[in-house]
Amino acid sequence: MGKIKVLDEHVANQIAAGEVIERPSSVVKELVENSLDAGSTKIDVTVEEGGLQLIRVSDNGSGIETEDCEVAFFRHATSKIGSGKDLFQIRTLGFRGEALPSIAAVAKVDCVSSPSTDGLGRRLVIEGGSVKSFTETASSRGTDMTVKELFYNTPARLKYMKTIQTELGHISDYIYRLAMAHPNVAFSLKHNGNALLQTLGNGDLVQVIAAVYGTAVAKTMLPVRAENADYSLSGFISRPDMTRSNRQALTMVMNGRTIRNYAVSNAILNAYHTLLPINRYPVVALHVGMDPALVDVNVHPAKLEVRFSKELELVRFVEEELRGVLRGEVLIPQVGKPT
Ligand code: ADP
Ligand code: MG
Repeated sequence: MGKIKVLDEHVANQIAAGEVIERPSSVVKELVENSLDAGSTKIDVTVEEGGLQLIRVSDNGSGIETEDCEVAFFRHATSKIGSGKDLFQIRTLGFRGEALPSIAAVAKVDCVSSPSTDGLGRRLVIEGGSVKSFTETASSRGTDMTVKELFYNTPARLKYMKTIQTELGHISDYIYRLAMAHPNVAFSLKHNGNALLQTLGNGDLVQVIAAVYGTAVAKTMLPVRAENADYSLSGFISRPDMTRSNRQALTMVMNGRTIRNYAVSNAILNAYHTLLPINRYPVVALHVGMDPALVDVNVHPAKLEVRFSKELELVRFVEEELRGVLRGEVLIPQVGKPT
């Protein structure tokens, strides 16, 4: 008798959850990305106790069909790609079909969704990977996901959670970035009943920067807009005298996905070069557009890191364009300029 067994779905989901769902902000990330993929124009995020007690994401997107509600929680079940070749042309934020089964494996999930405007929808309750109920319910068009008691059945993981303030910091940092990535979507974030962010969703990135960093910062941001054969750049960068003590205010958005990329961050900082005081960092919200075929997003389960096939070209382009914007600013006398 051989000793090798194929693990059952439940165990497989718990293992995947270990990779995809590291902390409350991972749940927020996955749910909000699903809302964006569903074409939502309004996304409301509510959290309690740093997300450890409750995370709720409601959207006005396409909703989930009755037949799909349970399937959505199956492993590797996705409506976003159909075949291996789609992996090289990813236009959605999700595609791995891992988030919902992973979240449901380590929390108590209540999913209310409706694809129609007739006021009726479905409610699926699933705890620790087991379906508890599936019923008809009143629902507007869209999806409302509530995730309670994250890691209630994985005490080892729960033990590693930091303070409520730290967990909330990860969540708000992520929502701020996403709001800057999608100025055409109205985002709200509430923690323990307190409103932390509200954006209008009118497409105005400066308004979002004002909501996140304050109007004083937003007023002095410099616009960036450039294009070459492979890439387009748009967004805002702060004047060199408007700085912060860490890199957290560097937001890079690639085809609508907020990303981390060391080389591009460095290109941004190099553009400022000696204009920045030592250990000071600018506020940047930079959108990079490119053909999805030029980038591999399938590098990491959480898809935070991406690989560009023409990275050096991108780095040079960003550095040169931003340097041009800053040089223009330095040459123009500041006297009489609105601040
Ligand atoms: P993925 O996003 O990689 O497809 P998920 O596990 O996150 O995988 O979601 C599974 C499927 O459930 C999605 O492909 C989508 O069809 C559906 N879904 C999840 N969340 C939403 C939502 N907020 N609105 C509409 N459909 C959703
Ligand atoms: Mg997803």
